[in-house]
Amino acid sequence: MRVLVSACLLGASCRYDGSHCLDEGVVDLARRFDFIPACPEQLGGLCTPRPPATITLGEGEGVLDGDSSLLDVEGRDVTGHFLRGAAESLRMVEILGAEAAVLKEASPSCGVNKTNRRRRMVNGSGVTAALLRREGIPVFSESGAVAGLRDLLRGKRKI
Ligand code: SF4
Repeated sequence: MRVLVSACLLGASCRYDGSHCLDEGVVDLARRFDFIPACPEQLGGLCTPRPPATITLGEGEGVLDGDSSLLDVEGRDVTGHFLRGAAESLRMVEILGAEAAVLKEASPSCGVNKTNRRRRMVNGSGVTAALLRREGIPVFSESGAVAGLRDLLRGKRKI
């Protein structure tokens, strides 16, 4: 099964500050699944390193609906970059036939259950996680990836 994965979880130094957040549990899953690494913020045209950005209102859903935006710490509106990154991530999912995504929790792009609003961690999804979920792609955080992918596989075997 193909799975889109936040590239920073696999050790790519694509975070805003040029670091990564390698997660050994996610790397371990790469032995059992075909992982497609992607960084939505880079796919959206942002450079690395880059000023960190935050959702101004609500969560990623609101950004998709045009009710919210993202500003970086320098006050630049980067909403278009985040929307483009989400759209490019979805395009990769569709072209490559990914059936799920494992995304970095708490990011304004990738957060699954938590995201970043006004520089605070809040409940809700980032922009890319919200778009993939809206399009019917199961999304899991790094902590939920093992159980989530296992359950998906079990479901497929029943079919
Ligand atoms: Fe890129 Fe997502 Fe990782 Fe941020 S959390 S560095 S957008 S892959």
